Amino acid sequence: MHEFRYSKKDLLCEKLRIADLVARFQTPLYVYSYQTLIGHFLKLKDAFRQINPLVCYSVKANSNLAILKALVNKGAGLDIVSGGELFRALQAGCPPERIVYASVGKTDAEIEKAVRRKILFFNVESVAELENINRICGRLNRVSRVALRINPDVEPKTHKYITTGKLTSKFGVDFKCVQQILLLRNALPHVRIVGLHIHIGSQITDSVPFIAAIRKVIDFIGVLKKKGIVIEYLNIGGGMGITYNRETPQTAQEYARRVIPFFKKSGLKMILEPGRFIAGQAGVLVTKVLYVKQTPRKKFIIVDAGMNDLIRPSLYGAYHQILPLRATENRKADLEKVDVVGPICESGDFLAQERRLPKVKEGEYLAVMSAGAYGFSMASNYNSRLRCQEVMVVHDRVFTIRQRESLRDLTRHEIIPPFLLGK
Ligand SMILES: *Cc1c(COP(=O)(O)O)cnc(C)c1O
Repeated sequence: MHEFRYSKKDLLCEKLRIADLVARFQTPLYVYSYQTLIGHFLKLKDAFRQINPLVCYSVKANSNLAILKALVNKGAGLDIVSGGELFRALQAGCPPERIVYASVGKTDAEIEKAVRRKILFFNVESVAELENINRICGRLNRVSRVALRINPDVEPKTHKYITTGKLTSKFGVDFKCVQQILLLRNALPHVRIVGLHIHIGSQITDSVPFIAAIRKVIDFIGVLKKKGIVIEYLNIGGGMGITYNRETPQTAQEYARRVIPFFKKSGLKMILEPGRFIAGQAGVLVTKVLYVKQTPRKKFIIVDAGMNDLIRPSLYGAYHQILPLRATENRKADLEKVDVVGPICESGDFLAQERRLPKVKEGEYLAVMSAGAYGFSMASNYNSRLRCQEVMVVHDRVFTIRQRESLRDLTRHEIIPPFLLGK
């Protein structure tokens, strides 16, 4: 379900022709659909409504303030992973009691800020971090709520870079360690352990690993209960996969149907941290065909967006559907196998490889679909390229939500020492 579709052969975002947006704003350009963004948030909220979970959107998927504000206005909480994301969350007006904070490497300064702002809780990833939070809270004369991030050791069957719940990954602590922490918790008077947290990876399309992980933790909570240790919250993380190509991920409804019984029985409060599920289909990256280059081996479509704008294909070998702004007849005979590549001086700079696309000509535009999550938020200035503009479409209106960077932005923080200037 998303709001990008052809009408009279023109690719629309909601009610607007993307070709018109390109004429006005140039490329590369991220175009977001407000309805798609909010629709996915509400779909999840609705699927789980029986147990009224707190849905904390994962800021790192797309951290634009307008995206955050749109979701916060609808009642979303936010899942943050840095002091920078805390700053964004507060700028977007998110109530601190709807913010949860995970990361294996929280600094003292980051912890202190979050403690002072009274966020809902920290998702703690190691014993050393827990002791550090306790120490900082002691100094500030505060008590902070924490959830322990458990590494449940399940195989999520996704790309290894986005697998986070195996014992070989750096995230969370194992069950035995959690038990030890809970037994020693009286020695840590400035933290109150109120929850457990799992997040086993991203772009997981199968329900089995989710359920396996949740079941393990629910069983564990049962064991703890017998020892007199009561857990209030279970944060089941994010990771829900979306359809980039032909994947058939479980729907929100199916996920809810499987998971809700665990929560009803245990009385635990549920927290969810979806990022990709909410933002993924809500954005496309629009790019212009600069050149068509035929080599002895391959045909390259060279476009004006590169791995600095969308790194997922280069980093994960990820698939993004690519559509022309103007629909073609799409007869099989007209398809040709091409590589869609950016201008960056790296062979890894591609948006698609060996892809069958309708014939495109120089000066035409292409939409790289499902680029709303881990698109702009992973963008960089590599090759001294300006990070591109982002716009949000709401029905028949469009708003710039981030300006295209300028050349001045590029060198803004750089300083030439006086001796190099002959002074
Ligand atoms: C990245 C992340 C998420 C969001 O993952 P998605 O796959 O985008 O849903 C949720 N929780 C934590 C702790 C994360 O690091």
